[in-house]
Amino acid sequence: MTMTTNSGAEGEALIRFLAERRAEILARVRAACARVGREASDVEVVCVTKGHPADEVAAAIAAGWTVFAENRVPELLQKKAELEERGLALPPFDMIGNLQTNKLKALVGEVRLVHSVASLHTARALSSRAEAAGIVQRVLLEVNVSGEATKQGFSQDELLEAAEELATLPALSIEGLMTMAPAGEPDVARETFRAARALKESLEARASLTLGQLSAGMSDDFEIAIEEGSTMVRLGRVALARSYEPFRAR
Ligand SMILES: *Cc1c(COP(=O)(O)O)cnc(C)c1O
Repeated sequence: MTMTTNSGAEGEALIRFLAERRAEILARVRAACARVGREASDVEVVCVTKGHPADEVAAAIAAGWTVFAENRVPELLQKKAELEERGLALPPFDMIGNLQTNKLKALVGEVRLVHSVASLHTARALSSRAEAAGIVQRVLLEVNVSGEATKQGFSQDELLEAAEELATLPALSIEGLMTMAPAGEPDVARETFRAARALKESLEARASLTLGQLSAGMSDDFEIAIEEGSTMVRLGRVALARSYEPFRAR
């Protein structure tokens, strides 16, 4: 028996709502895969719980979600501790947010996969921290192919230049790329995902990296991302927020 504070009618209603959303999302993932001849099992859906309390994470677990992501280290650690206090078996968590060097020590060993390694400097620092902790950290390299100044990530040129050194970092297992598209522009999103996939392929051809994963697609653009080859979609609002309205291009 697991204990949560989601007992009672309110908790049951939340779990039912989240389970319905999850079923809709999985149906949309299957449909997007079918449109391009992919297997739905090749796309993992990661439930992004940033800004939601541990209670809601517990409800999301009860609703069937199995992999979670957070974008800030203190919030991640706090939520994991709260879930553990409740006696819940901890699900895997991923890190998807900007990595501050002074938080890497606390992060190492706490997450399944870091999606957001956005510079060579950060990659080196994370590898040293992981090495000191005696683990190999699984990571993705975040690329900024749309060139938006507000977004983190390696530019294409930076990544091609850094690839060989990245491949030699001893305590990182580099498993793919992550990217984010500009919001509200489906055509630009599609181009962004396509460019990230092309970059992944040219990196694999040129450097000693095997990049199986492409983490791409959020609430408003995950179907486009899947059509363009994403293997991991990171869903927050569409999975968890009652107020979420699907984005419709005008
Ligand atoms: C918040 C966040 C998401 C989820 O965004 P939604 O639009 O709510 O689905 C995905 N990836 C990253 C990096 C995020 O910070």
